[in-house]
Amino acid sequence: MPAQPEIGEILVQSDDLRQRIRALATEINRDYEGKSVLLVGVLKGAFFFLADLMRQLEVECEVDFMAVSSYGSSTESSGVVRILKDLDTPIQDRHVLVVEDIVDSGLTLSYLMKNLGARQPASLEVCSLLTKPSRFKVDPKLRYVGFEIPDQFVVGYGLDVDQRLRNLPYVAALKQ
Ligand code: 5GP
Repeated sequence: MPAQPEIGEILVQSDDLRQRIRALATEINRDYEGKSVLLVGVLKGAFFFLADLMRQLEVECEVDFMAVSSYGSSTESSGVVRILKDLDTPIQDRHVLVVEDIVDSGLTLSYLMKNLGARQPASLEVCSLLTKPSRFKVDPKLRYVGFEIPDQFVVGYGLDVDQRLRNLPYVAALKQ
C-alpha cells in the first residue's frame, strides 16, 4: 500500500523488477559471452537499475556514466539535449551498452545514440528498464526492455518527480 498520497497505482512490484532484471542479465551474459562490455548508465534515474543489473552480470564489464538534460517542459522532451557529464574514457572499439531508466518519446536516447555512435564503438546497444511505446516519436531501437508501461508519469526505483521519490522500491504512477 503506497504510503504517500501522491503515489498512485503500483505498476511494477519489487519482486517483478528483481525477476525481470535477472532475466535481462541472463540474456546479456549470453549475448556478450567472451566480450568485455562497457555499461553506460544515464544519470540519475538509471542508477538503481544499473546497480541491480550489473550485480547479475557474469561477463567482463566496466561502468561509466553520462548525465544529460533535455530542453523542454517538465513532461515533454524536446530532443535537444545538453550533456551535463560526459564519459570518463573513450569508447572507440568498445562494446557499449547504454543503460536507461525509461524511454518516453525516444528523443533523448536518439540524440545520445548519435553522439555515442560518432565515437566509433565496436557495438552500441540499449537496455531500458521501462518504455512507453504509445509515446514513441522516433524508433528508439532498444535491444533489451524490462517492461512496457502505459502513458503515465511514473516514479520510484530511481525515477523522480522534482528529485523526490527515487527511493521507492517499486515503480508507481504519480497521482496528478
Ligand atoms: P524522452 O526523450 O524519451 O521523451 O524522455 C526521456 C527522459 O524523460 C527519461 O530519461 C526520464 O528522465 C524522463 N521521463 C520520461 N518519462 C518519465 C516518467 O514517467 N517518469 C520520470 N520520473 N521521468 C520520465
